[in-house]
Amino acid sequence: MIRFENVHKSYGNHEVLKGIDANISKGEVVCLIGPSGSGKSTLLRCVNGLEDYQKGRITIDGDLIDAKASSISALRTRVSMVFQRFNLFPHRTALENVMEGPVHVLKQNTAEVRDRAADLLRRVGLAEKMQAYPSSLSGGQQQRVAIARALAMQPEAILFDEPTSALDPEMVGEVLSVMRELAEQNMTMLVVTHEIQFAREVADSVLFLADGHIVEQGPAAEVLRNPTHERTQDFLRRVT
Ligand code: ADP
Ligand code: MG
Repeated sequence: MIRFENVHKSYGNHEVLKGIDANISKGEVVCLIGPSGSGKSTLLRCVNGLEDYQKGRITIDGDLIDAKASSISALRTRVSMVFQRFNLFPHRTALENVMEGPVHVLKQNTAEVRDRAADLLRRVGLAEKMQAYPSSLSGGQQQRVAIARALAMQPEAILFDEPTSALDPEMVGEVLSVMRELAEQNMTMLVVTHEIQFAREVADSVLFLADGHIVEQGPAAEVLRNPTHERTQDFLRRVT
């Protein structure tokens, strides 16, 4: 579904990704872990065409991601992204935030989108908060609105960039449990996270990024229990 082939990415002469090869199958949940500054966000942004890369290929279902191509805006709607900071529109209600993309980007019928958006908000446990503005919601609730907003685009995959890192500890669980449900419903997900317990329980596979390379990849249980690379061992010692 998402394929990385020898992907290289530099900012100026700082090479961040030095030949990434990886595959994410349909319905698979892949956790991307690695030290801060290793290029995890950069990798996600390349998938969504928010960043260009210099060498190699990224494809979604065989279609090449090329940030400079005119087709990129159409491709971008096929993969949703959930950020660490939820980036909701402050002057729109939860329901309006979820409706925004389908109505304004996909030009779908407003009444149908409203029904679907309401369903999605119920699905993430926010039936009571549809008319609430972001400022009156907790961080965990805002992030659940952001997940509903991502789902409203009916994407083929969702990329999560440290979705719980900005949350107070007591709100991490409610967001992870929504993500866990999506995983059970076979959503294709690439998740950058430091939540190793979540990775262990939910991920099908784990990629460990360090020094511009995927230094370890495999079934979550294996990589997290028996990391072979020294960098992975160090990292896991520090976060667990
Ligand atoms: P991670 O998400 O793993 O913490 P990032 O992908 O954010 O890492 O960053 C990887 C490296 O690329 C870092 O050294 C960072 O400083 C650099 N970087 C990220 N974004 C930019 C940018 N827009 N311009 C220049 N350098 C950047
Ligand atoms: Mg990052």
